[in-house]
Amino acid sequence: MLSFWYKNIPQYPKDHKNFWRTRLIAHSLLITTSYFLILTLLNLFYFASYELALIDAFGLFVSLGIYIWFNKTANVNIAAWAVTFMVVSLILMFVISVRGHAYSLFWATLIPPFTFFLVGRNWGSIFSAVAFGVCVYLVYLQQQQTITIGLGSLFNLIEVSLAHILIFRFYEKTRFSAYQHLATRNIEVQHLAETDKLTGLYNRQKFDSELLRLIAKDEDVQSTNYLLICDIDHFKKVNDTYGHLVGDRVLSEFANILKDKLPPNTLIARWGGEEFTVILTGESLADVTTQANQLKKYIKENPVANIPITISIGVTHIKFGSTVLSTLEQADKALYTAKKNGRNLVYISDNNKISAYQDSIKQPNKSNVNA
Ligand code: GH3
Ligand code: MG
Ligand code: MG
Repeated sequence: MLSFWYKNIPQYPKDHKNFWRTRLIAHSLLITTSYFLILTLLNLFYFASYELALIDAFGLFVSLGIYIWFNKTANVNIAAWAVTFMVVSLILMFVISVRGHAYSLFWATLIPPFTFFLVGRNWGSIFSAVAFGVCVYLVYLQQQQTITIGLGSLFNLIEVSLAHILIFRFYEKTRFSAYQHLATRNIEVQHLAETDKLTGLYNRQKFDSELLRLIAKDEDVQSTNYLLICDIDHFKKVNDTYGHLVGDRVLSEFANILKDKLPPNTLIARWGGEEFTVILTGESLADVTTQANQLKKYIKENPVANIPITISIGVTHIKFGSTVLSTLEQADKALYTAKKNGRNLVYISDNNKISAYQDSIKQPNKSNVNA
């Protein structure tokens, strides 16, 4: 029974700003449902007051209904309003029903903390002020008939409740800005954790996890994703000739060219020093290899940060159900062959067969070299 009431809503994990709000909603509904259940049974079987039993059964139906609906939709905002209305109405009904019993107004002091937490700072203030005004007026009306509380006591209660409203406004503001600050920091930290500082591209960790996400599917259809490893040829010489800072500029500019020349939404990462990995979507291996070759050609023809460089590329198919390591190994073997055979080349690894890209036929060379 308890696990039914206290089950976590997956959309709101413990670190989500709405986690405790969902808890308060669940707790409040548990209390009101139990309260109405007990009252219904008492009125039915003990007091034989069927009219009241009907009203309580209605309350029971409403709280249980909200709870089940909330569990299904996880709509915190609407549930918060529904629960706020229900609890505030209950308090008001109680204040009315005790007909001027003076200390019933103490219940009104529950309204500010409750509404502030559930419906926020501004609505909390309005709600508290209106509900509290209604309570005061009701008790004032009762005062006309029987004096059960002195005016001084009444004013004390009013002042305490107003102080509650102000304090809870402040408290809710603090809580809200702390969460906002935390959320912004979380985004920044996540961005830092997955970004390469020099180029602004994804880093190796993020790339590997994205690759894992792509291949960890077990699908009948063929994946349309291909892996490219691009490595700048003789990059050590760039550093040795022009200095490390110029080398950095070349890397950064090369990253911009990748972003510019490859289709939008292509996943590009700096996998290591001067090695860049790309997940490219295409109709076939031949289609993707053609794109890789165009990139290679562009780099050859256009100096990067005023430095003439060339690149070598290894290409492979990302297959569903394979592993990150074997996919990277396939592309790396193709890249290694491109380097061995003279650089400024595109090589393909297809089912462990390595072949060179040939401009003229735009198909993997069939004179394969076994990997
Ligand atoms: P190859 O054609 O076989 O790839 O030769 P290479 O010189 O490009 O490859 P190698 O692995 O021998 O050297 C890579 C160089 O990349 C060595 C290293 O100094 C340089 N490098 C790695 N990271 C950075 C970086 O962040 N900035 C700069 N400027 N250079 C870097
Ligand atoms: Mg290199
Ligand atoms: Mg390298």
